[in-house]
Amino acid sequence: TPVIGVLALQGDVREHLIALAAADAVARPVRRPEELAEVDGLVIPGGESTTISKLAALFGMTEPLRERIAAGMPVYGTCAGLIMLADKILDPRSGQETLGGIDMIVRRNAFGRQNESFEAGVDVTGVDGGPVEGVFIRAPWVESVGASAEVLAEYGGHIVAVRQGNALATSFHPELTGDHRVHALFVDMVRASGR
Ligand code: GLN
Repeated sequence: TPVIGVLALQGDVREHLIALAAADAVARPVRRPEELAEVDGLVIPGGESTTISKLAALFGMTEPLRERIAAGMPVYGTCAGLIMLADKILDPRSGQETLGGIDMIVRRNAFGRQNESFEAGVDVTGVDGGPVEGVFIRAPWVESVGASAEVLAEYGGHIVAVRQGNALATSFHPELTGDHRVHALFVDMVRASGR
């Protein structure tokens, strides 16, 4: 059984732990480099990317995370987590750094502010059985992807799910619904990576 961490610096950690367990993984929170070293894959939750970025630096996690992602550890980012996995942010807050891993440019808060949050059905390549109920909360979208990144979903003409190698990212939050198919896709990626 793959052991999958959820980066527990800020954001909706608990919901991801529950969704991963429902998708047949062993799930645990990760805050420190020693904990990161023990997991087969990692989820970066939704929350606030500027805060996650600052806390990662404070906890000495930025470089260990970059190294493991670059070494091919499977990683899945939702919303703020998608922003953390982008090689480039179009409109970063000053000092805001990402971890990178996916050759894409993201626009933060692209779908509007908190009061413009919404839910919509999204067809995701690799997820069978009909559209996923996408929860969008101050969600980013992906402006563009490089040649090595695969677009898995679009909504309203904008890219909202991307995969590059072992890195998966969605603008929306499957962990906030009872539907664990996207987490199951990620657990399969972790299994396929050899654990
Ligand atoms: N707007 C947030 C950010 O920029 C993301 C919101 C979310 O994760 N739901 O990090």
